[in-house]
Amino acid sequence: MINLFDTAQNKIVPFETRKPNEVSMYICGPTVYGPPHLGHGRFALSFDILRRYLEYSGFKVIHVSNITDIDDKIIQRANQENKLTSEIASFFEAKWFEDMEKLNVLRPTFNPHATEYIDSMIDLINQLFNLDIAYAIDDGIYLEVAKVKNYGSLSNQDLESLKSGARVDVNPYKRSPMDFTLWKHSKPGEPAWSSPFGMGRPGWHTECVVMSLQLLGEGFDLHGGAQDLIFPHHENELAQAKALSKRFANHWVHCGWVTVAGEKMSKSLDNYTTLDELLSAHDARSFRLLVLQSHYRSPLEITKETLKTADVAVARLDSAFRRFKDSIDLDTLESDMGNIRQDYLKEFQTAMNNDLDTPRAMSLVFEIVTRSNALADIANDVHKMKLATDEFKAALFICKVLGLDLKDTSNDLDQNTMNLIAKRDAARISKDFKLADQIRDELSELGWVVEDTSSGTRVHK
Ligand SMILES: [Zn+2]
Repeated sequence: MINLFDTAQNKIVPFETRKPNEVSMYICGPTVYGPPHLGHGRFALSFDILRRYLEYSGFKVIHVSNITDIDDKIIQRANQENKLTSEIASFFEAKWFEDMEKLNVLRPTFNPHATEYIDSMIDLINQLFNLDIAYAIDDGIYLEVAKVKNYGSLSNQDLESLKSGARVDVNPYKRSPMDFTLWKHSKPGEPAWSSPFGMGRPGWHTECVVMSLQLLGEGFDLHGGAQDLIFPHHENELAQAKALSKRFANHWVHCGWVTVAGEKMSKSLDNYTTLDELLSAHDARSFRLLVLQSHYRSPLEITKETLKTADVAVARLDSAFRRFKDSIDLDTLESDMGNIRQDYLKEFQTAMNNDLDTPRAMSLVFEIVTRSNALADIANDVHKMKLATDEFKAALFICKVLGLDLKDTSNDLDQNTMNLIAKRDAARISKDFKLADQIRDELSELGWVVEDTSSGTRVHK
C-alpha cells in the first residue's frame, strides 16, 4: 500500500483509488507565456516520478495535465510582441514539451487546452449563477465564497481569518474580498467569447474544475500541483465543485518550490533560471537526481555547487553502468523482475510507499553501487563477478523506475564542451584567431586534446 501525504487531511494516509488498478490524476499544467524555469521543471519531475512509481506498482495511470492557453499574461505578451495570443501560446507550449522531453518527463495521457472547453465553463458558471452562488458586477461574474460550505478546508483556513488577512480589494463591488472571478468581461481588443453574461473569458479556477471533472469524472483519485496552487487556485476549484454538490478529488498532492537563497523561484520575483540555461551546462539527469535526492514536499535549493555535485554523482552511476552493462540483458531488465534482488526491491518499495521517500531510495541506489563495485574489484572468477553484476542490476532497475536512465557516456561530449567547440569553429571561420586560441586553452584545461581538422575542431581525452 502506498501512503501519501494528503493536503486536505494534513497528514500521510493510505492512497486509495476508485478502481483497484487504475489511478486518475489531474496535475495543473503550465500557463504558456514564457520559457519554463526550474520551478516548473521540479513540479513536472516530481509528478513524473510519482506517475512512474504508480505504474511500476501496477496501476494504469490516466494523467491529465492542462495547458492554460488564455490568460492575462499571454494577452500582455501578445500585445508586447504584436502577435496573436494563440501564436504566443502555441510557441511556448511547443517549448514546454521540448523541455519536458529533455527532462525525460512522460507525456500526459491528455493535455486539454483551456480554449477548447469554454462552452463547458460557461455552462458551469451558469449553473452557479442559477443557484445564486455566483453574482454579476461591473467587470465580471464572481463566486460568493460565503455560500460554500467549509470554504478554506483544503488549505486548512477558515473564512474569517482569510478575510482578515485579505488585501484591500481593487473592486469595491465584490461582496467579500475572498470572492473570486468566474468570468471576466473582456476589454476592447482582447480575445473574447460570447456568453449569457456578455463577451469575455473564464477565470483560471473554472478551467481546471471543468476539465478535471469532464475528463476524469467525479471523485477522481488525485489532484496535484506545486504548493503555491493550494490557495487560492485549488481551494477555489474545490469551492465550485462543492457548490455544485460534485465529488471532487479524493487526494491532494503538492510539491515544494525551488528556492533561490531561500526565496521561491518565480517569474514575478525575476530570480529564475530557465530550463534552457540549466540544460546548456548540465546533464538533464543531474536535475532529476537533485529532485530525487530531496523530498518532494521540501523546498529544493539549486545552486551551481549542488548541480556540479549531481553531475559527478550521475557520472559515478554511469561509470558503474559501463562496468557491468555487457553482462546485463538490458532488453529484459524491466520485464524480468524476478532477476532483480528482491531484498533491494523491498527496501525500495518500503521507502517509496512511505510518502515517496526518494532521498532514501537514492541513497539505497548509491549503497548498492558501492557494494557492487567493491565486489567486482575483488572478483577473481565468473561466479563472483555475477554476484557483483546482480547487485548492480538492482540499482540500474531502481534508477529506471524513477526515470533516471543510466548510459555509457564515454563517447559523448558534454553540452559545455559542445558549446565551446561550436564557438571556436565560429571564431575560426570569422578569423578571430585570438578567441579561437583562448577557447583551445579552455578546452585543454577541461582535459581535452584539441585537434584542428578540415571539418572543424575535434577533441578527445
Ligand atoms: Zn489548475
